[in-house]
Amino acid sequence: MNDLENVKKIAKKCLNCSKPQCVKGCPLKNPIPAILAAIRQDDFKTAEKLLFDNTNGSIICSRLCDFKRNCFGNCVLSKKGEGVKFYEVEKFLSKNYLDSVKPLTEYQSCHIAIIGGGLAGISCAIDFAKKGYLVTIFEKRDKIGGVLTETIPTFRFDHLLVEKYLEALNKLGVEIVYEKQLGQNLFLEDLKAFKYVIFAMGTPLAKDALPSNPNLIDGMAILRNPKNFEPKFKNKKILVIGGGNVAMDLARTIKKMEANVHIVYRRDLISAPANVDEIKCALNEGIGFEECLIPISMNENYLEVEHARLIDDEKSARKQFVGTNSFAKINCDYVVQAIGLNADYAYLKTQISDFFDEAGYPKKAGLFYNHQQVFLATGDFLIGASSFAKTLACAKDTVKEVEQFEKSSIWR
Ligand SMILES: Cc1cc2nc3c(=O)[nH]c(=O)nc-3n(C[C@H](O)[C@H](O)[C@H](O)COP(=O)(O)OP(=O)(O)OC[C@H]3O[C@@H](n4cnc5c(N)ncnc54)[C@H](O)[C@@H]3O)c2cc1C
Ligand code: SF4
Repeated sequence: MNDLENVKKIAKKCLNCSKPQCVKGCPLKNPIPAILAAIRQDDFKTAEKLLFDNTNGSIICSRLCDFKRNCFGNCVLSKKGEGVKFYEVEKFLSKNYLDSVKPLTEYQSCHIAIIGGGLAGISCAIDFAKKGYLVTIFEKRDKIGGVLTETIPTFRFDHLLVEKYLEALNKLGVEIVYEKQLGQNLFLEDLKAFKYVIFAMGTPLAKDALPSNPNLIDGMAILRNPKNFEPKFKNKKILVIGGGNVAMDLARTIKKMEANVHIVYRRDLISAPANVDEIKCALNEGIGFEECLIPISMNENYLEVEHARLIDDEKSARKQFVGTNSFAKINCDYVVQAIGLNADYAYLKTQISDFFDEAGYPKKAGLFYNHQQVFLATGDFLIGASSFAKTLACAKDTVKEVEQFEKSSIWR
């Protein structure tokens, strides 16, 4: 069966539910039943319009979303093991979408700066440029893509796909200034000419699970440069602490270095936040999974852990873990930390403290600064380490907020 036949077959399965659970499970609220209905009518133009009017991130979501917890897992037919594989339809439709982006002929005078060229920044830039705004992205590295080109392993995602975004940005006249890092060689004073400044700098700072130790390694440093990473892990026993996508990517990357790898996680396998398929791959590749263990301390050749018990949490669908006072030692050569990521707010806090709320996070409503500029945060920089679909949904909201500001009376 070719791709087109497969997509039509998938579309035929859909029941066109009146309260579609697939949409409820999609952070971007893609109009899935309407897209599939258009495909049933052989109206691919309408299907594409419905999808791409809602998001410019399908090329990524269709490859890296956690479908089993989002659209596919929530589809009513999934209970019978026959869920509608919308992600395959999305992948098919998005094949040529970015190539079809047309250059603009007219621009508005409003100039927008986006700090950070990850998916949130890119998505905002495309939407703003399509509306005719002048956009400049300032990116600290020498390429765009953020996590997509910096830390996601190439065995899981073809980094070249980001080139498609670059071509679309170029066609839309978006200027990209590389190797400009806010707070280092780019400052708020340099951005005075921009009416809107959008901070989309992601969450680059790794959280620490344990006090520093020579045998304790920051996982992000490995993912950023696996080929040249020192020390070498061949034939060593490595423990990776964490249960998210970063932990899985790390465990799988280190396994390819011919190491003996075990993931140590505070909860059980079912509660691990990593994509369900990522966990499956890790298990299939022979990575050990040590569940319900809380890391306590790292010593020269072992990790001390406390056994955890899981309890229901009224406030969350996820179980909570509590210590049991029962301890164990796991022998190892190195421990790699992958327990979460934080945004770096340090520079902005020294410059525009009003941009932050009492808890220290950026205000969603942004800041109207000196009666001249609007500052807004978006993507993971605003919502904390999340997922591609959530960061894209946040970027969409940011574009809407700028439009609201444009219509508001503050500029008069
Ligand atoms: C290893 C890993 C695997 C993941 N796997 C998945 C997955 O399979 N599925 C999923 O849905 N999600 C996954 N995620 C989460 C997902 O990658 C993020 O939610 C998403 O990348 C957030 O996009 P962003 O644009 O907000 O941030 P980022 O992608 O981090 O982009 C931020 C950009 O800002 C730039 N920048 C940072 N500071 C500055 C500065 N001071 N000045 C200028 N530029 C700056 C950075 O260089 C970067 O280009 C994963 C995350 C990681 C780390
Ligand atoms: S839940 Fe499944 S069957 Fe119902 S509309 Fe969504 S994709 Fe179609």
